Order: sequence, then C-alpha cells, then structure tokens
Amino acid sequence: MVKMNRAWYQNNYEYRLSNRYISAAMIDAIVKSSSPSLDYTIAGYSVQQKPIYTITVGRGNFKILMWSQMHGNEATTTKALFDFLKSATSKNMPAVVKEILDRCTLCIIPQLNPDGATAYTRHNANNIDLNRDAAANTQPEMQILHRVIDSFAPHFCFNLHGQRTIYGFTKTQTSSSLSFLAPAADEARTITLSRKRAMTVITEIYNTLKEELPNGIGRYDDTFNINCIGDYLMHAGIPTVLYEAGHIAEDYTREEIRYAVFKALIAGMIAAPKCKDDLSKAYLAIAEHEKCFVDIVIANTQDGSIAIQYEERLEQGQIVFIPVVLDISSEITRIGHRQIDGLHKKYTHFDHTDIKRGDVVSALKADDGSTITLS
Ligand SMILES: [Zn+2]
Repeated sequence: MVKMNRAWYQNNYEYRLSNRYISAAMIDAIVKSSSPSLDYTIAGYSVQQKPIYTITVGRGNFKILMWSQMHGNEATTTKALFDFLKSATSKNMPAVVKEILDRCTLCIIPQLNPDGATAYTRHNANNIDLNRDAAANTQPEMQILHRVIDSFAPHFCFNLHGQRTIYGFTKTQTSSSLSFLAPAADEARTITLSRKRAMTVITEIYNTLKEELPNGIGRYDDTFNINCIGDYLMHAGIPTVLYEAGHIAEDYTREEIRYAVFKALIAGMIAAPKCKDDLSKAYLAIAEHEKCFVDIVIANTQDGSIAIQYEERLEQGQIVFIPVVLDISSEITRIGHRQIDGLHKKYTHFDHTDIKRGDVVSALKADDGSTITLS
C-alpha cells in the first residue's frame, strides 16, 4: 500500500490545469514550456492536424504505457497525469515517485483525442468513438496509439477515462468515485495471466484508496468487445487496467477526484512491476457499480419525484451545467447527488406551465410562491 502526503501534493500539483475543460492548446502550452525537463515527441497528428504528444519519463526496465482523453471530454485523468509529471520532474520528489522512476520507463500520451478535447466531445473530429475503433483502426488517433504500442512494447497499459455522475451503489447509497476494469480477453471472460495481473494491480489500488473513498470504488462491467482498446490489448496478452475518474458529492470541477486519481496512478505504477501475488479473488469481490444516481432529485412533490440531470455544454471556454428534467414520476428510485425535499408542493415553471421531460429547469416555482434554484 502506498502512502502519499496531501500537503506535498497541494504545493506541487500542476496548477495550470483545472476544472473540466482541458483543450489541446492547454496541453501544447504546458508541454512546450516544460521542455527540456520533460522529454516529449510528437507521435502524429489528429484529424484536424493537432499534435498528439508522447512524454517519456523514468529509467527502469518495466515499461508502462498510458493514455488519457481518448474521449475528449474526460479530462480528470489528464490533470492527474500532469500532477504526476510535475512530481517526477521536481527536485524534492517524494520517495515513492523516485521508486517508480527507478523501476519503470513510462510512456505517456496525455491527450489522445485533442480535437475532441477542444470541442469537449467524447468522439473525434470524424464523430468516431476511438474506444470502438481498436480493431478496425480507421482513425489517425487510433493508428498513432497502435504505432506507439508497437514501438514502445509496453509490459503494462493504463487506459485513462472519466465517467458520468450516474454511477453508484444502491446498497450503500454512495456514488462511484473511481472505478476500474481488468477487461475481458475473450467472450468467455477467461481469467488469463494478463487479466490476473491487471486484477492484482486494481486490488492494490483499491487497498490504497478504500479508506479515503469508503464504498466509493467500483468495478466496471466486463463484457468482451474487441473494438475497445483494453479488451483488444488483453486479447493480445498485454495487461491493461481501465481507470475511470468518477464523481463525489458536489465535486463538479473534479478537483477532489483528481487527487484520488493521482494516488491511484502512483499505486498502479508501484504495483504493476511487482505483481507477484494473485489478488484476482479480491478484485472480483469489489462491487460492480450501477446506473443509480442523477444530479438532483426533488422528492415528495405533488407529482412524485423530479429527477434532474445536468447537460454539460462548452460556452466561451467554460463548461456550464444545464439542469434538464430526466423524469417526473412516483417511481423514481435514483439517488440525487443533491436531494431536495419537495414538501408535498406542486412545482411548475415560473410562467406556471407544467414541467415535462427534457425541459431546462434553472429554477422552479412552488404553488405557495417559494422557489428552488437548480443551476
Ligand atoms: Zn471514456
């Protein structure tokens, strides 16, 4: 288990990156200004001809390849990667980081989908989900990843993503703050040696973070799909761990979870080269998360509960959260990150029209004249 010091982190994180929107221009600026202390190359170009960087650090024999923002709007892991790079180039680096650099050579693609990152979309500029293009390999970004895999020949891969606010655990009524997957290598989901190693690494990460995120770490569904890069690599015998940065409470900027991801990266990099024990049983005991949360629930209204999910939009370089009605019904079982008691009142728009699914509801008016602000 890895111990990290939060005070150290707060003085040494990559302060130039924050919030939800991490564009290609932001990565360009950081990579270029960090040279020569950061060893980078341009591995190729995206559909819209933006550079895709690889950064290499460490001097050890064990090779780990990791990539972030394959989905452009999933930037939390990118922030955490740059926090790690900051620590790896710092004069007073923690012992644990030095241990990683002695033992491993890391090849990092901080932003595989710079076009999607800039447009704040999951897909690339050809509207293709890169994580469904692993086998077909039709997109320039995926072709670059395959070239880097072939030339770097990693012993282990970290596939870094972010998940929506909808995931959690019904049993404990907690949200999924981090989740992981040791992807399947075949339809039968055989526990191959590579899978066992990925499961062991995830268990080590879980043990490092479980006390800080009680009932907050989950396991992703392991249905096999060769078009997903993790499954594709596992099929080829390269152990791969999927990281999903999740959500906790009101952390919509994902700055709280960023620190958890930073620790999870460190724990993973410490565990991957060792990986002697078989902790697959403990991995299989980690709870699978479910789609059981929404952003806001207004319970006990005259129409039942109102479930509201934010729609994320890029406006003038900022992500804004637009509250949209997902459902109104007495059957709603989803848990709200924010729970509001409707006090048995009737709620409408400010012009007294009824609320229906798909409506934007920045504020609501109750029949007694009181209001609820939701944005
Ligand atoms: Zn993703």
